[in-house]
Amino acid sequence: MENCIFCKIANKEIPSNFLYEDEYTVAFNDLNPQAPTHILVIPKKHFASLNELDDEKVMSALFKAVQNVTNKLGIKEYRTVINTGESAGQTVFHIHIHILAGRPLKWPPG
Ligand code: AMP
Ligand code: ZN
Repeated sequence: MENCIFCKIANKEIPSNFLYEDEYTVAFNDLNPQAPTHILVIPKKHFASLNELDDEKVMSALFKAVQNVTNKLGIKEYRTVINTGESAGQTVFHIHIHILAGRPLKWPPG
């Protein structure tokens, strides 16, 4: 999708260091990390949010990618977050899974 920053990252229009890549997904470090480890896992195909994600192959690939990237980096304990909609904190409308680790994380989140 045009003017989508994460589409540009996924299709390598914007250079980024991928921590992980497969047929359906890529993972890279968040620009503004909220924890010592803050990774984003995104599908290569554009879906604005979880509400629009209707491809089960991509759904499973996203969770497999979380397992693969955490396993690759030796991260055993982490939080995954998907913000859906503005009031939930979504600012980039290309679905992404946050992986946060490396410090104790409080619950409930703010
Ligand atoms: P959310 O608020 O859930 O939509 O998360 C969007 C995340 O994308 C934020 O944590 C931003 O710091 C991050 N972000 C925005 N632009 C970039 C970028 N160019 N590269 C990496 N992370 C980004
Ligand atoms: Zn996109």
